[in-house]
Amino acid sequence: ATPTAVMVGTGLGARLGILIRGGEPLESSKDLTCVVFDKTGTLTRGEMAVQDILLLSDRLAVEMHDEKSRCGSEMSDIDTVRDARRVATANMFYYAACAEQGSEHPIATAILSKARDYGIGNGLDRPLDEVDGFEADAGKGVKCTVNNTAVHLGNRRCLAANDVNISPGTFDAMEYLENKGQASGVFDFTAVVISINGTSEAVVGLIDYAKEEAALTVNVLQHVLGIQVFMLTGDNVRTANAVARDVGITATNVVADVLPSEKILFVKKLRQEGERVAMVGDGVNDSPALAEADVGIAIGSGTQIAHEAAGIVLVNSKLTDLLVAIDLSRTIYSRIR
Ligand code: ADP
Ligand code: MG
Repeated sequence: ATPTAVMVGTGLGARLGILIRGGEPLESSKDLTCVVFDKTGTLTRGEMAVQDILLLSDRLAVEMHDEKSRCGSEMSDIDTVRDARRVATANMFYYAACAEQGSEHPIATAILSKARDYGIGNGLDRPLDEVDGFEADAGKGVKCTVNNTAVHLGNRRCLAANDVNISPGTFDAMEYLENKGQASGVFDFTAVVISINGTSEAVVGLIDYAKEEAALTVNVLQHVLGIQVFMLTGDNVRTANAVARDVGITATNVVADVLPSEKILFVKKLRQEGERVAMVGDGVNDSPALAEADVGIAIGSGTQIAHEAAGIVLVNSKLTDLLVAIDLSRTIYSRIR
């Protein structure tokens, strides 16, 4: 295409909220054969909320019960245990919120918001403390030390990478929460574990929703444009399959439990097989794969790092704008040769 055609294409895109960084991504979008979507924040809204917390041991409750009976409290046993559970739950959210202060992940936002319901957070009864040694491990979770207490918060890979002691019931609790998505049909559920001083103490269940235009976009790509659609996620296979089913991606095209480095390898492999690949993502963890694809497409609401790695940014975070981008590219490059 002529420089004028590229200018027209990118100018039109910009007006529609589709930021196209020059002729290359514009041209590559015309003959894509595969679109690979990230899950969280890309196919889903990434507006997560805490729905459940399961305490893995009632040790804290029992300790408090003993303490109260020693003091001759007049509360009933049931009240005492309930009270103790509430205290233990609040403590879990306190540690989790402290640890998530430095993270941009939707899980962090959800946990910080839930903690506020317990009066935990800056400006509330129990402000967050500063942490030492904060580290975010993309695709796994976060860790830090708060008041000499080591906190880890994340998925199975996070537990394994940090040699966390697995309390009985940890994996059962995770599976129980993750399976809720299959049953609900509305929400997508995922689970993360809170570990305190190297032992898993609680499992937090979080909900997210598929974007309302996700199914339409996937269907048009597959059935109108003849493009293969894949989903790649660092999340677990149960949550991944529930979302895939909601948006119409076949289970065989779902790859779960992947690290950022494995996202690149997946894109690389498709390209080696001769496919022309667009990768769509929002996170820090997607950036290397965005850069590896023929066209990297970032979601507007995503992180700055993803924007920088992308050839196209969907400013309004609307997945149907991907269809508009492809259409624009095909129009520009079929009209002018
Ligand atoms: P996706 O690939 O679907 O966008 P991510 O790679 O962002 O998902 O995250 C994968 C998984 O890593 C999450 O489902 C969660 O289990 C864990 N994780 C990532 N970041 C965090 C965090 N800040 N706190 C807790 N868990 C996290
Ligand atoms: Mg994501």
